[in-house]
Amino acid sequence: MSRALIELVPIGDVDMEVLDFLALVLPEALPVFCRIRNHPVELEAAYQPLRQQYHSTALLAQLVRSHHNPAAKVLGVTDVDLFIPIFTFVFGEAQLGGTAAVLSVHRLDQRFYGLPEDRRLFLERCEKEALHELGHTFGLVHCSEFECVMHFSNSIEHVDLKSNAFCAACGRIVQDAIARLASAAKTSGRRPT
Ligand SMILES: [Zn+2]
Ligand SMILES: [Zn+2]
Repeated sequence: MSRALIELVPIGDVDMEVLDFLALVLPEALPVFCRIRNHPVELEAAYQPLRQQYHSTALLAQLVRSHHNPAAKVLGVTDVDLFIPIFTFVFGEAQLGGTAAVLSVHRLDQRFYGLPEDRRLFLERCEKEALHELGHTFGLVHCSEFECVMHFSNSIEHVDLKSNAFCAACGRIVQDAIARLASAAKTSGRRPT
């Protein structure tokens, strides 16, 4: 099966083990290749001092500007706390059917909630939210199936309740979108390696 390319871009001082882990598990969940690409993203430009958080849409815009491969998706991964104006916080943001997504691991760590560190749970949550944001870039909207990784999560309890897999309907949409992206990669001669 043809595979599409996902570029993982670290933003700020994010734990690189998270990116290495995602590069390993995303190709097991989806027909994709992953590559970690270092690209300077200006965090300060997205900082909102009143909220002491970073505007995820501003980070997305920088990722889009830096991205010149139409046959790949880009997922920025950061440890800073993200927001969009209508929400207190977001775990991530993505362009629906677009190129870029951003994921914050800030609230995926048990220590954020005053609990002891749980590395396995943390990485599990990172995988779910990475798949969720990438799912949006492949055109998926929120899913009403509680177990589906595309179910909307506005709290960490909801992240833990859903699985790390797409339901059958979402899975079909994402597979089709990836097949189209992979064939675009071939015809444009920019086949991921
Ligand atoms: Zn979502
Ligand atoms: Zn679904």
